[in-house]
Amino acid sequence: MPEMTSASGSRLALSDLAPHTFQSEIRAMTTACDRIGGINLSQGVCDTPVPAVVEAGAIDAMRAGENIYTRCDGITRLREAIAQKQLRDYGLNYDADREVMVTSGATAGLHVAAMALLNPGDEVVVFEPFYGYHVNTLKSLRAVPVFAGLAEPDWALDIDALRAALTPKTKAILLNSPGNPSGKVFTLAETEAVAQICLDHDLFLFTDEIYEYFIYDGARHIAPATLDGMRERTIAISGFSKTYSITGWRIGYLTADARWMPAMGHFHDLTYVCAPAPLQHGVAAGLEQLGPEFYKQLATDHRSKRERLSAALRDAGMDPHCPPGAYYILANAEHLPGKTAPEKARMLLARTGVASVAGSAFFRPGRGEDLLRFCFAKKDAELDEACERLRIS
Ligand code: PLP
Repeated sequence: MPEMTSASGSRLALSDLAPHTFQSEIRAMTTACDRIGGINLSQGVCDTPVPAVVEAGAIDAMRAGENIYTRCDGITRLREAIAQKQLRDYGLNYDADREVMVTSGATAGLHVAAMALLNPGDEVVVFEPFYGYHVNTLKSLRAVPVFAGLAEPDWALDIDALRAALTPKTKAILLNSPGNPSGKVFTLAETEAVAQICLDHDLFLFTDEIYEYFIYDGARHIAPATLDGMRERTIAISGFSKTYSITGWRIGYLTADARWMPAMGHFHDLTYVCAPAPLQHGVAAGLEQLGPEFYKQLATDHRSKRERLSAALRDAGMDPHCPPGAYYILANAEHLPGKTAPEKARMLLARTGVASVAGSAFFRPGRGEDLLRFCFAKKDAELDEACERLRIS
């Protein structure tokens, strides 16, 4: 009989993975902020208003009885609306029935893609600074994240670092653009360089394009699946949490070649069953009814929020990296008291009531200790109050 007991001799033991789990800095700072009733610029919670058509679409669907399980890959209406959107925005042609899946958030999208396409021990190259959920989702499935640092100050692609991260065990690259926490937007040339490496080494590309509409100063979002040879190997992951300010609804999607969909659908069914039915209708209503001006206004509004927060951070002596995308700012906190970034973040919270996240949460150990990340997807009044408090700190 195989050995099933722990070192203490009992079967009542955690899995091998569990001791390595810990509360994320983002959640820890949110809890600390709530405790003192502070202003939370740590979590990307996005508490700006939900578009009225999206909200009404969900309420109407609930009242009309759309409250039962849906297909594990989502309702036809939403899959069709997503296929239309991919065609409209990027000229990408996906079959709504076989190549589009509605997921329980972008988080579930990466989870099921990794379950369906990676084996334990497979390596996935992740650019650093990284979004912690990417790294921890991979680890939770016993895949191995391998880091390729982006080059400061503007987080340019370092092609040598990317090449150095490749090994015979590499199965995929994960590309998050616009990126969290850096706001990095991969240029066409950079995206082509990443794509070429995928083609040369026969790799999957997992994308996270959730901030596709949060893009400033003339930067352009490149959907990697549009590049030559990339459609069949790109698992394009995105979602509506940010675009429609519905982080709690858990509606995302992935688009990919039909070859990969049945396995990903199976794991979505097993883990999530389906995304919430009436909320899928709300998002479909948004996709059907909101025109280009909505997405343009979203970028305009967030650019203005970025400007206000950047100016306050500069005034407070924390030199900001001004991002061309997403809705976070990494700011230089080297002059704040505290040896580590978590200490600096807690000191700033105690002094100002404004919560940020330690930069070290987005890097390998020993890095990011001089950085703090601030989220600017906040209602204007709250953001302005946070700016005021940072200025007088
Ligand atoms: N991907 C990135 C890069 C994010 O920053 C976040 C949230 O902060 C998510 C995914 C979460 O997306 P969802 O709410 O659709 O699971």
